[in-house]
Amino acid sequence: MRGLMQDRPLSLTHVFHRAEQLFGHKKIVTASPAGERVTPVADWAVRVRRLATVLDTLGVSADARVGTFCWNTDRHLELYLAAPCTGRVLHTLNIRLFPEQLVYIANHAEDEIVFVDRSLLPLLWPLVDKLETVRRYVVIDDGADVEIPDDPRIADYEELLAAAEPYQGRFVVEDENAAAAMCYTSGTTGNPKGVVYSHRSATLHSLITLISDGPGLRECDVVLPVVPMFHANAWGLPYGCLLAGTDIVFPGPNMTPSAILDLLARHRVTVTGGVPTIWMGVLPLVDGQDLGALRTVLCGGSAVPRSLSEAWKEKVGMPMLQAWGMTETSPIATLGVLAGRTDALTEDQRADLRARQGVAAPLVELRIADPGTGEELPWDDATSGELQTAGPWIAKEYYRGEGGGAQFTEDGWLRTGDVAVVDPYGSVKLVDRTKDLVKSGGEWISSVELENEIMAHPAVAEAAVIAIPHEKWVERPMACVVVRPGRSLTPDELIEFLTPRVAKWWLPDAVEFIDEVPKTSVGKFSKKTLRDKFAGYSLPS
Ligand code: ADP
Repeated sequence: MRGLMQDRPLSLTHVFHRAEQLFGHKKIVTASPAGERVTPVADWAVRVRRLATVLDTLGVSADARVGTFCWNTDRHLELYLAAPCTGRVLHTLNIRLFPEQLVYIANHAEDEIVFVDRSLLPLLWPLVDKLETVRRYVVIDDGADVEIPDDPRIADYEELLAAAEPYQGRFVVEDENAAAAMCYTSGTTGNPKGVVYSHRSATLHSLITLISDGPGLRECDVVLPVVPMFHANAWGLPYGCLLAGTDIVFPGPNMTPSAILDLLARHRVTVTGGVPTIWMGVLPLVDGQDLGALRTVLCGGSAVPRSLSEAWKEKVGMPMLQAWGMTETSPIATLGVLAGRTDALTEDQRADLRARQGVAAPLVELRIADPGTGEELPWDDATSGELQTAGPWIAKEYYRGEGGGAQFTEDGWLRTGDVAVVDPYGSVKLVDRTKDLVKSGGEWISSVELENEIMAHPAVAEAAVIAIPHEKWVERPMACVVVRPGRSLTPDELIEFLTPRVAKWWLPDAVEFIDEVPKTSVGKFSKKTLRDKFAGYSLPS
C-alpha cells in the first residue's frame, strides 16, 4: 500500500519563497570597507530575482557551475539562492586556498562564471589565464580600494542588477535530487575532492539549524555566521536563517577578533558560529562589552577544547555548543547535546560531556568500525574505531567519482577518517583523525586529547601535537606550543602540569615553542605544515 501524501520536491526554492513571503521585514546587516549596509529581506529578495534574470541574460547555461569568491555578505546570500533556484549549481570557492588548488578546483568543476568581491580581486585575477572554463567575472564592489582591470570579461554586479527586470513568478526545481551546490574538501590529503549537494540534502540539512537540541534558530534571533560561506555552506546557517526568519549580521571582509566582538555586542547577536580559533581570538578581548543577548556559540570544524568552552562560560555566561561534521556531511552530523543525563550530573561532568562531539543529529546514522576488517564495534566508550556515517545529507560519492572510492564502504556509508569512541548513550568522542594519531609502541596516543590538556595550562595560547619518528617506539609525541603574551613557560613546567593529567607514556618527548600554530585555509591547525617544518627532527634520547 502506498502512502497518500503529496510528493513535493524538497528544494531551496521553498527557502527563498518562504523568506520572501513571510520575512520581508527582517534585515540583513553587512559590514564592509565602505561601512555597514542594512538590507531588508524584501529588498534582498527582489535582488535575488534580478540576479536570476542576469544569469539568463549572460547566457549562463542551465546547470552551469556558478563560482563565488566572496566573503560572508548579503550579496553572497543573493548568489546562494539565485544560482540553485534557477537550476544552476552554486560553487563556493575557498578564498584561502593556494593558487594551484584554486585553479585545480575551478577547472575541475568547470565553473562558467565567477562572482568575486572587489577586495578579493587581487587573489583571483592573477589566475584568470589558467581558469580554462570561466567566461565571465562579475565584480561585487565592496568598497575596497582595489583597481578593477579593464578587461571585456569583467562586468559590474550592481550595473547588471540595475539593468535586469526581476524574474517573475515562482522558481521551480522539479527534481529534488538535482545538484544545488558544490564545495571541495580542503584537500589535506591529495587533490581536493568535489562534494555535490542536492536540493533535497541542502533543504533537509537546513532544518537541523532549527532544532532546539542544536542551534535552535527562531524568528526572534539575530545570527552572525562567522564560519565562512565558502566553507561547507557556513554550516547551513544561511539557509537556516532564511527558513527561520532571523535577522542576519554578516561580517564581510573584516574577520579580526575585535571586529567580530564589536558586531556581537552592537547588533545584540543571539546565535553565532565559528571554528575554535576564532573564539580563542575573541575571548581575551571580552572586557565589559554587553554580550547579554548571546545564547548560542556554535563551534566545530576541529576539537573544541574543554578549557575554551569553560572559559567562555566563565567570562561570557554560556559554554560553546560543539558540532562535528565534514564538507562531505553538509556539514552538521553530530550536536553536542547533553541528552537525557543532565539531572544527575555535576558541573564538571557536564563540562566533560560538552567537550565531546555529541550525538548524531536526527536523520544521521553513525557507527564505529574496525578499519581493517570493517567489523562494527561496541558503544562502550572504550573501544575506538573509524567513525562512519550515513544519512540524507551525507555524500555517497565525489564529483566525477574521483579520488575517493575508498572513502565509501560497500554498504554505502561514508568513512570519515576520524577515529572515535562512542558511549552507550550515543555520544561521540573523537580520538583523532586517522593520520594524526601518534603510534607509540603499538599503542595509539590521541593528539587531540593531549592538545586539549596542554591548552588547559593558563600560559598556553595554542598547542598542536605531532608524531615524530622514533627508533624504539616507532613514533613519539612532540608538542608545539604557543605561549600567551606576557607569560613564560619551560618544557619542564609543562611536563609537570601534564603529569597528573595524562598517562605517563603519553607525555611529549619534546616541547617546541613556536610563534603561532600554522592554520589551514579554513582556520584549523595545519599539522601537515608542522610535520613538514619538523621533518628530520631528532628527539632527545
Ligand atoms: P578537511 O578534511 O580538509 O579538514 P573539513 O572541513 O571537511 O575539511 O573537515 C572535516 C574534519 O574536521 C572532520 O573529519 C574532523 O576531523 C574535523 N572536525 C570537524 N568538527 C570537529 C569537532 N567538533 N571536533 C573535532 N574534529 C572536528
